[in-house]
Amino acid sequence: MRNAVRLGRVLGIEIGLDYSWFIIFALVTWTLAAHYFPMNYRWPAATYWTVGFTTSLIFFASVLAHELGHSVVALRFGIPVHSIRLFIFGGLAQISHEPKRAREEFYIAIAGPSVSVALAGLFWVFSRAVYPKSPLEALGTWLAVINLSIAAFNLIPGFPLDGGRVFRAAVWGLTGSYTRATRIAAGLGQVVAYGFIGLGVWMAVAGALWDGLWIGFIGWFLLNASTTSFKQVSVQEMLQGLTAREVMMTDCPQVPRELTLEALVRDHVLRTARQSFPVVEDGYTRGIVTLKEIKAVPKARWAQVTVGEVMIPFEQIVKVSPHTGLAEVLQQMAEQEVNQLPVVEGDQLLGMISRDGILQLLKTRAELRV
Ligand SMILES: [Zn+2]
Repeated sequence: MRNAVRLGRVLGIEIGLDYSWFIIFALVTWTLAAHYFPMNYRWPAATYWTVGFTTSLIFFASVLAHELGHSVVALRFGIPVHSIRLFIFGGLAQISHEPKRAREEFYIAIAGPSVSVALAGLFWVFSRAVYPKSPLEALGTWLAVINLSIAAFNLIPGFPLDGGRVFRAAVWGLTGSYTRATRIAAGLGQVVAYGFIGLGVWMAVAGALWDGLWIGFIGWFLLNASTTSFKQVSVQEMLQGLTAREVMMTDCPQVPRELTLEALVRDHVLRTARQSFPVVEDGYTRGIVTLKEIKAVPKARWAQVTVGEVMIPFEQIVKVSPHTGLAEVLQQMAEQEVNQLPVVEGDQLLGMISRDGILQLLKTRAELRV
């Protein structure tokens, strides 16, 4: 996790605080302790700050709970969640890939705002149960209002906000087309983003400079996110109908099991642009050796170590079938953090497919506009 402080793991998900989060945490604490609480409650001066600090902490714990809501449902659908990061505009769960069905997208999207609404209810009940005008009542009331606001803001139908995802799920369910739904939702997302930017500029000009700047920045952030979704969908559309069989390289130089790493590097790696080699024995593919396995062995030992000793055994290799779609292949590569995958049918290695190969194809297609 870059530019962030790691907090630990919850349900196997890494939780982190982006450096930018500390700015917003200080700002929220200060706004509560120096403005909001003194304007509405009469307490000793130090109390404003203790309550402000505590309320701010619970506020960000609520944001984290919202993201955990999305994550738990994603995990239930078998979609891995890498991390949750709190940053200046709130929280972001890094869900490894988009859901495969409209229904899943709907439940994942709605889970976050549902958690926020539930928290708002709990804090409201809490605030009514404690002594009026006390610090606990102030804390509960503010957290109830803010959690309800989080839910309301996120339900605005501007993709990639939760409301935009719910909207996409609906269009997706109705049209049956993921790419079409994403285009429509991202388009609406851009309209909403420009709306935020316009509102921000208007507020800034009308005198509410900081609030205006803030809303403008949120708009700019949303605009970036929806534009990225547009591009991703274009790539997916270009890849549609293409399978691993069409892009794989079939003339893979195979190497025998007893070959030393020294010979492999000298005779194969340095002479070809290839980075991975199937290892064969008695006509069967036994495994694969890539630059990564070679680099793990110190150079001084390359003359003694054989390919068979370091290869990834065939059973353990992540493979794709010749019929796997290219979008899926790219996703597999991203998840496994590899640049190439073997294409296998039964126990037969048909060829290798590389990220570069797919990108080259995309570039060529974009150039010819086909
Ligand atoms: Zn959300």
